Amino acid sequence: MTSQPRQPNASIPLLDLRAQYASIADEIRAAIEAPLASQHWILGAEGAALERELAQLSGARFGVGVASGTDALMLSLRAAGVAPGDDVAVPAFTFIATASAVSALGARPVLVDIEPATFAIDPTRIESRLTPHTKAIIAVHLFGHAADMDSILDIGKRRGIPVIEDNAQSIGAAYRGRKTGSMGAFGCLSFYPTKNLGGYGDGGMILASSESDANRLRRLRNHGQEGRYSSSECGWNSRLDEIQAAILRVKLRHLVEWTAVRRKHARRYGELLRDLRGIRAPQERQDCEHVYSVYTIRVEGGAERRDRIQRYLAARQISSMIYYPLPLHLQPAYAALGVKRGELPESERAVDEVLSLPMYPELTEDQITRVATALAEAARE
Ligand SMILES: *Cc1c(COP(=O)(O)O)cnc(C)c1O
Repeated sequence: MTSQPRQPNASIPLLDLRAQYASIADEIRAAIEAPLASQHWILGAEGAALERELAQLSGARFGVGVASGTDALMLSLRAAGVAPGDDVAVPAFTFIATASAVSALGARPVLVDIEPATFAIDPTRIESRLTPHTKAIIAVHLFGHAADMDSILDIGKRRGIPVIEDNAQSIGAAYRGRKTGSMGAFGCLSFYPTKNLGGYGDGGMILASSESDANRLRRLRNHGQEGRYSSSECGWNSRLDEIQAAILRVKLRHLVEWTAVRRKHARRYGELLRDLRGIRAPQERQDCEHVYSVYTIRVEGGAERRDRIQRYLAARQISSMIYYPLPLHLQPAYAALGVKRGELPESERAVDEVLSLPMYPELTEDQITRVATALAEAARE
């Protein structure tokens, strides 16, 4: 095959997993040889090594591999003692799994509005939403940027409620010298293929700092078993398999370098978008390190203008995405919570303004310029 000539109007995807695979194909193929040769598929050496390596990267003591990010949340909530009838505070603007993990346990998500600058749960709005039944707070580090953990941890400490970090989108991000996922009682990671450390299928991990918590999670993910066929409590089947772990270990070796490139791309986008009317590039708080797993701008002026700009980009073969079109209280699945439109104004504003642009390490400077130029034209109209 000959390589394609540069095409000025070639489409720009939101994410290009094929380009990434092409850059590491030899390493991936070599890495999956070990589980293929051993035929040891579940709870083996690759998974244990990945647990150690991710705990180390995140500054946590323990990692426990599980089947998905959703399971990581669900099992963390169980380990935190959340039971049917309890409440858990969660942000209203996030991927639905943050809340459905709560619902899966028979507990109720109590929705809290977000801070406009980071899209994360607003610590100044948590306490008024706490009830005597609130047993945990979930902070989501959305799009690659940390929530305001010091304030959230403070509330948790004062009220005696554990804080769980939904770090599905922000592996490797930093907050005041600490890594996301290592600050709360549990840090939940997802290896869904589009995340910044994505596998070739589903997977997840829980980070924990207490050894007894980590041991409990190891039981919970494996039918509550202490030894073989002896269960101290009812658990579940939620394990990360060896092939995924082997693949993720290869990608983890590149993560720091890939994150640095994402940050460079974000700086370039930031320069090009700075003066556009009614367009706001994502912000990075002082003392925080954004990993830009998703590059989400705000288009001021409401959904109609945002949607028009998205169509303008699409007509020029530039993909973009609305993460997320509905806040949780306006999802049909959560109509029964009885939260009305108007009650969580920042979450409602976010869904009308957000637009996520192409972002991945393999993006080229030319592509960034093309996206920014089209956006500038669209914003001027
Ligand atoms: C992806 C994601 C999850 C769920 O992870 P899965 O691995 O897909 O189950 C949870 N929370 C957030 C914020 C996510 O982005």
